[in-house]
Amino acid sequence: MAIKAEYIWIDGTEPTPQLRSKTKIMDDDNGVELADMPLWGFDGSSTNQATGDKSDCVLKPARVFPDPIRGGNSILVMCEVMLVDGKAHPTNTRAAAARAAKKYKKYEPMFGIEQEYTMLKPDGSPLGFPDNGFPAPQGPYYCGVGEIAITGRDIAEDHMDACLEAGVTLSGINAEVMPGQWEFQVGPVGLLEVADELWIGRYLLHRIAEEYGVIIDINAKPVKGDWNGAGAHTNFSTKEMREDGGMAHIEAGCVALGKKAALHIANYGAGVEERLTGAHETQRHDQFSYGVSDRGASVRIPWQCSIDGKGYLEDRRPNGNIDPYTVARLMTETICSAMKK
Ligand code: ADP
Ligand code: MN
Ligand code: MN
Ligand code: MN
Repeated sequence: MAIKAEYIWIDGTEPTPQLRSKTKIMDDDNGVELADMPLWGFDGSSTNQATGDKSDCVLKPARVFPDPIRGGNSILVMCEVMLVDGKAHPTNTRAAAARAAKKYKKYEPMFGIEQEYTMLKPDGSPLGFPDNGFPAPQGPYYCGVGEIAITGRDIAEDHMDACLEAGVTLSGINAEVMPGQWEFQVGPVGLLEVADELWIGRYLLHRIAEEYGVIIDINAKPVKGDWNGAGAHTNFSTKEMREDGGMAHIEAGCVALGKKAALHIANYGAGVEERLTGAHETQRHDQFSYGVSDRGASVRIPWQCSIDGKGYLEDRRPNGNIDPYTVARLMTETICSAMKK
């Protein structure tokens, strides 16, 4: 029987790359192991990844997931984009992430990313906003229950089921502070895994929302004014942070992040200055602070970790529209290189 393999990649759209995908029909005989998946190509001149005269780009399968939308033997194939000479394409941030994962393997870095996103109506306003004007101010919506305040739960629930079927390591979902805003959390898993799975989680979300006639927006500040932006808080730990006495390593990690604050902010998503204003549970983008339980800090140490004396730290600065390959790589490089004896 034929297998439908959806080859998925990240394009060259600026400033925020987007997902692209196309379907390859394969024979049963080819199997569904990663090693059996052939290279494929696409027209890079249509994705801001090549010029028309040298348009061919290469898709190199990196990870295979069962496809919960098509079901059966269908699969999703997360790909890296390569140049025809076999080198990584400049837009391929996974290649550098893979090098960092290898280099810092002995620290056993683990990640959990909280993907906040906004469901939009076709007119571009969030689900739950009236056709003219604004809904009641923020307050009841975060983790809210009840039909009037909460919209989009059917999409969030369908998405959760799809992620679990695909083997995405989900740790939960919740309704967020602004109406129409939701969150799903991936992790805790390793560097490459969290980024691959977050991209697949986003892919499934876009696909499911298509069926509802809803648009998914992961940008930092979908509604200007007194409405929360969308972040991708990135939770991080090393083996030493997770073990007894880990708090000293967590604090050292916070200090290391502070020393490279500008580099991190520059890679934490387009429009990060608009979101990190010091209001709406953020620290300003041009200031760095860390603290236990502090949601107004750049980096938070969760209360449970301070009681246990070990655990993880939460970098609250990354935007919803981050490239998780780059953010997870940078956090690993900054924190683990500072820990090198
Ligand atoms: P909050 O909304 O309170 O900031 P969430 O429950 O939404 O927290 O997210 C917590 C995240 O932390 C989850 O993605 C989870 O996978 C992750 N996490 C839990 N333990 C660890 C750990 N040891 N290392 C890295 N991430 C972790
Ligand atoms: Mn959360
Ligand atoms: Mn949140
Ligand atoms: Mn958080």
